[in-house]
Amino acid sequence: MAKAPRLFGTNGIRGVAGKEIDSVIAFRVGSALGTLFPKHRVLIGRDGRLSSRMLLEGVAAGLLARGNHVEDLGLITTPALEFLVRKASSSAGVMVTASHNPPEYNGFKVVDSDGIEIDRAKEEKMELLIHRVQLPATYSPGQRTSREGEIRSYLHEVEKHVVHKDRVRDLKIVIDTGNGVAAQTTPTLLRDLGARVISVNDVIDGDFPGRNSEPRPENLGALSRTVREEKADLGIAHDGDGDRAIFVDERGEVQPGDRTLALIEDELLRTHPGAKVVTPINTSMVVSEVASKRRGKLILTKVGSIEVSRTVVKVSALLGGEENGGIFYAPHHPVRDGTIAAVLVVNAIVETGRSLSKLLDELPKFYMVKEKIPCKEGAKDAAIKALKARLLGRISSSLDGVRVDLEGRGWVLVRASGTEPLLRLYAEAKTEKQVQEILNEFRPLVLAAV
Ligand code: MG
Repeated sequence: MAKAPRLFGTNGIRGVAGKEIDSVIAFRVGSALGTLFPKHRVLIGRDGRLSSRMLLEGVAAGLLARGNHVEDLGLITTPALEFLVRKASSSAGVMVTASHNPPEYNGFKVVDSDGIEIDRAKEEKMELLIHRVQLPATYSPGQRTSREGEIRSYLHEVEKHVVHKDRVRDLKIVIDTGNGVAAQTTPTLLRDLGARVISVNDVIDGDFPGRNSEPRPENLGALSRTVREEKADLGIAHDGDGDRAIFVDERGEVQPGDRTLALIEDELLRTHPGAKVVTPINTSMVVSEVASKRRGKLILTKVGSIEVSRTVVKVSALLGGEENGGIFYAPHHPVRDGTIAAVLVVNAIVETGRSLSKLLDELPKFYMVKEKIPCKEGAKDAAIKALKARLLGRISSSLDGVRVDLEGRGWVLVRASGTEPLLRLYAEAKTEKQVQEILNEFRPLVLAAV
């Protein structure tokens, strides 16, 4: 028998719905989880994709057959489900979502009893249990209850982290939820606080008719335009399951995720000197510069939200963040949460009384280039190994791929993509010219290794 393909990638299980991800897999995920968390209550929820309801039913059936009690949260964001799992004791969770992937995709994020995605060791156990089909041993199926509307208690907790609530009403904010489930969270929260909120693409629709679900600059033209036309203070864009947030300043400029992270870091370290900040190895130097300036302690991890979440917990960090717009705020819950990111940026604006562009312009400036180098799925590890051999003696870190720090100039990182057949090449320097020089030197080495 051929070896079954690995299901878990960088962020849970993902694939094309109906092909790689079908109701049979959903049932097996539910059944495997029930075996891993016997007698636990399991909270399940879904994003707005057309296949999500069908997959949710499969997961529920697998869990119920194992005797687990299932609480169905219905349409919900990933961070809200994760928070609610931690809040309900002795529980686990499954979120049916493919995050920012195209409409035809779907998948599962499996959440441990602490409200964070399961670690790699538990993923391994789940892999085995999913592939080793065992008929449910129980004839006392669990019960299922519907808990739709629980998102309110999540929002209530998020609201506690808003400082100067009275000043939020002075803000005009455009929010583009990209037809995703975050339409239920950030706009509601900010409206309730009295801000003037203008919504873009706020109808939850699994076809994502408004824009590509990934909050990248090329997908956020309508948001930028609306911010400018409405003379708003800022714009916020979320991905399909609401765990990421990208910001647009009052001039309509889309800001890179790591600059927003640095802004939040700067504000938090000002009031929490010596606090720890966790970020993956591909994040801009602006984050390390702010950490040194504010005497914070920066801890680098592999790329992936699970790595950041688990490290935030392990080292008792205050904040975690990723260049893709992921913000992890430990005082709320150490997972990637787009709504808490919105709260922290709004806090920075109202506390300082300055515009978002001013706040961001004050941060040190760097130039980063990211390139994709095609590389077959089975050849990625060998290519990284070959590259390591070529760069021997110059490698600064092998935490995730190969990183070379170039004294006084910048850095370069090559790593295997966890989700696509390609290598990712990152380079960053103080000037555009320097970054091109770095690329000219390292790109041929990567191509040769592939
Ligand atoms: Mg997401």
